[in-house]
Amino acid sequence: MSAWFLGLHPEREVLTASYAAEFASDKVGGPARDFFLRHGPRFFGVALDPANSARHRWKTSAGGGMTTVGVQQGVAGRGADLAIIDDPYASVEEAMSRKHRDKAWEWYQGEFVTRCSPGAPVIHIMSRWNVDDHMARAIEQAKEAKDRYLVLDFPALAICKECGSYGIEAVNECGHGLRDELGRLPGEALWPEVWPREFLLKQRIRPARFSEALFRAGRGRTRARSSSASGSATTRSRTIAFICSMPWARLCRAIRATSAGFL
Ligand SMILES: [Zn+2]
Repeated sequence: MSAWFLGLHPEREVLTASYAAEFASDKVGGPARDFFLRHGPRFFGVALDPANSARHRWKTSAGGGMTTVGVQQGVAGRGADLAIIDDPYASVEEAMSRKHRDKAWEWYQGEFVTRCSPGAPVIHIMSRWNVDDHMARAIEQAKEAKDRYLVLDFPALAICKECGSYGIEAVNECGHGLRDELGRLPGEALWPEVWPREFLLKQRIRPARFSEALFRAGRGRTRARSSSASGSATTRSRTIAFICSMPWARLCRAIRATSAGFL
């Protein structure tokens, strides 16, 4: 997404944060840079600046670029026309710690979000381990500020929008037959080629608080329910997204279908 954004707006800045600087650099900044290096000239007519090509800080030939940092790291002097928080917690232990959640949230509000230019979208990507996690707080804040926001919620097994069933015994066992944004019937797996339905169902034997992140994406227990919604237009526009791993083409289709007008 960062490479695509910079291809369209090569003079702008992307700022991405993950729980650790190394993770952000290796898993986010590096792949985005490599994608831009390979496809930027052909797709967008813009190249990577060879003098600024580190994974954690790379630039386009038009002067914009991408910076990746770890949560708690200083971001003074960095700009953000697109800001992304990708997994702010390193572990379940961190997600369960009120102290850690407060600390990460304080950093986000005091440091990270202050780097955003007016109207810059902020994207949050994470697994829902706790009802009072970063995502819940971000959604709550967006509601209070009357920001425009959008939730993309892709649980491992599709959940029926009518009754909440995720097809334990059989796909569409509730009979409602409602498909989600990806066209899945209740109980169908998100990425069956890698994580088949049968495998995912076996994961349910784990304690509920762990399987819930996979299967229910915080539904029913979180203060800010995961559902698609948008508030009234305000001075700041923000996008909030919850995205699980899935094939790129399928993810693009889902984003295109649900987030028109946000980016
Ligand atoms: Zn149903």
